[in-house]
Amino acid sequence: MIVERDVPLARFTTIGTGGPARLFARPRTPAELEEALARTAEAGLPVAVVGLGSNLLVADEGVDALVLRLEGELAAVQVEGELLVAGGGAANAVALHAARNGGLAGFEFACAIPGTAGGGVRMNAGAYGSDWARVLKRALVVSQAGAIWRTPPELGLSYRHSNLGDGEVVARAEFDLQSGHPDEIKAKVKELNALRKDAQPTNRRTFGSVFKNPDHELSAGKMLEACGLKGHRIGGAQISPKHANFIENAGDARSEDAIALMSEARRRAHEQFGHALEHEVRFLGPLELL
Ligand SMILES: Cc1cc2nc3c(=O)[nH]c(=O)nc-3n(C[C@H](O)[C@H](O)[C@H](O)COP(=O)(O)OP(=O)(O)OC[C@H]3O[C@@H](n4cnc5c(N)ncnc54)[C@H](O)[C@@H]3O)c2cc1C
Repeated sequence: MIVERDVPLARFTTIGTGGPARLFARPRTPAELEEALARTAEAGLPVAVVGLGSNLLVADEGVDALVLRLEGELAAVQVEGELLVAGGGAANAVALHAARNGGLAGFEFACAIPGTAGGGVRMNAGAYGSDWARVLKRALVVSQAGAIWRTPPELGLSYRHSNLGDGEVVARAEFDLQSGHPDEIKAKVKELNALRKDAQPTNRRTFGSVFKNPDHELSAGKMLEACGLKGHRIGGAQISPKHANFIENAGDARSEDAIALMSEARRRAHEQFGHALEHEVRFLGPLELL
């Protein structure tokens, strides 16, 4: 396995911002993943993993770690009876395609979540009333301590949350689905994608939801809209004019612009609603909200 130096991570995030990874590797098999983790243990170097970077903000100065991206066997998908078996690096779109071709229903909700099986476990990704916790049977978690299968309760899955730590890598995920007709699955996906296009800036570079929805009658987006933040811009980043819980890269954004917007949005929501919004997007490298 090749280990590269100073690889720009902006190209691995959907918002398109962020500095380099000090070290970067693309393990393709469980053995390569274990080797990479053993090397970081020896070198005392932190390890981080990126999926499709669709809920990720990377510090502009970069990340002092070995950053892993799972490929090959670790991004492959198979159908085994009513189980959908996906490598941690498998794109949701690929997993959904395999499920549909294999006549398995129940994963359609993931059609508009542009991440991976492993990123979905880490985030307990969800949409349209379903989430990973509902369909995941178990996930193979590999760390410097070894490999272990964990079930949703053992992963502590709740709203956009798992108990996975930074050095814990989801190498494989098994989803328990039900048989379904490919045409019905296709129709459901079409319907969900249309709903999404109406509500969100799907044709802009974003990292998905900025904040988790608070325990409040208003969603995070509606709160930020009420604060008058739609279209608010700092540097090259702007709050989406379409949906206020999205930040768009309006051309030449840096992660620091997104952080400044997030800090401003939190401050205004706190002032107006007394709520401290919690960010959903994950940070990589030295980033902090003011
Ligand atoms: C347009 C758009 C729409 C979105 N809609 C939704 C939505 O409806 N619902 C929703 O829940 N999310 C949504 N998201 C956010 C995002 O797609 C999900 O959170 C997704 O699950 C992230 O997966 P990823 O592979 O891209 O992870 P990344 O963004 O690369 O990483 C996110 C976190 O997961 C960790 N991670 C990634 N891979 C692994 C792995 N193999 N093992 C362990 N940890 C890992 C990373 O270290 C990081 O902490 C949306 C994003 C965009 C851009």
